Amino acid sequence: MIISPFKKKVYDAVKMIPKGRVSTYGRIALLIGNPRASRAVGNALHVNPDPEHTPCFRVVNGEGYLSGAFAFGGRDVQKKMLEKDGIRVRDGQVDLKKYLWKPQILQAGNITCTHAFSTRLCGVSEGIYHSLNLGIATGDDEENIRTNWEIFLEACGIIGVSFVYGKQQHGNRVLIVDEEDKRPVSSSVPEKYYADGYVTNRRNVPLAVFTADCVPVLLHEKYAGVIGAVHCGWRSTAADIEKNAVEAMESLGADPKKIRAAIGPAIEKECFEVGEEVVEAMTSLLGEDLSPFAEKKEAPGKYRMDLKGIVKWRFAQLGLQEKNIEILPACTMCEPERFWSHRYTGGQRGSQASIIML
Ligand SMILES: [Zn+2]
Repeated sequence: MIISPFKKKVYDAVKMIPKGRVSTYGRIALLIGNPRASRAVGNALHVNPDPEHTPCFRVVNGEGYLSGAFAFGGRDVQKKMLEKDGIRVRDGQVDLKKYLWKPQILQAGNITCTHAFSTRLCGVSEGIYHSLNLGIATGDDEENIRTNWEIFLEACGIIGVSFVYGKQQHGNRVLIVDEEDKRPVSSSVPEKYYADGYVTNRRNVPLAVFTADCVPVLLHEKYAGVIGAVHCGWRSTAADIEKNAVEAMESLGADPKKIRAAIGPAIEKECFEVGEEVVEAMTSLLGEDLSPFAEKKEAPGKYRMDLKGIVKWRFAQLGLQEKNIEILPACTMCEPERFWSHRYTGGQRGSQASIIML
């Protein structure tokens, strides 16, 4: 039988587990240190079923999301089992998250610098914030949010815990920032950072925005070395945050024709129902017939709106080349297990983050 090198590693790891230990899966994950652990472990056990381990093993999904793999219960049980094995979870002695949880991140093919859009998988938050909640003002436990950020930043390949972010206002303010504006994650945000977009030309200054249905946009002009992160909800878009973002980048030497834009996970047309006032706001912004992006529904005064399409259209009006704008096909509302969706959860939720760094 041919076993791939990865499966072999998994199988070797399984063999190393002392008999009779209950925290088999935590140990496997620690030994493998790979996000595909749950699927791979399942495969390895299938290759050579081990009666010692199989009865309590259950693969819940193939995302490398191991908490569900513990047939005995939730994260508390998992934590206790690991502690039984001498692996301490939250006291800093063992950085469990480093091995056990590697979140799935999404990246755009057209952006060549460090960047990522988060999902809600593979964090440590509980309850309605389960699990990778990166939102600062969500009401979630602050320590969990900090840990989630460490997990996310590490998955993005960003060293350190500081980045630029603010309290988003659904407005159109875009700030030009530098090293001084980096801060560790915290729910208390100085008022000067109340904004919906950030732009920089400095290296090692990660820029982040939060979303949970609204459209996150990451911008990169590689020749001038300028980046941006923008929260483009419908209100910010109606207030033309796109224009402020492009102008801020131009002020640092970026050429709009060379700016690449990645439009991340957000609520898509089939799910995004809006009223007349939103259609009117967008029509006056774009100055054109909105019908390709706003389809009338049967209910009076209701429309389905393609906000991602509108954001793309606006950036194109502002001088970006259409071929330089990539839309990631992911609807937050259609995939509530993978993404935070404000509408799906009725506001009981955490947040995604989108981040970019030169
Ligand atoms: Zn949808």
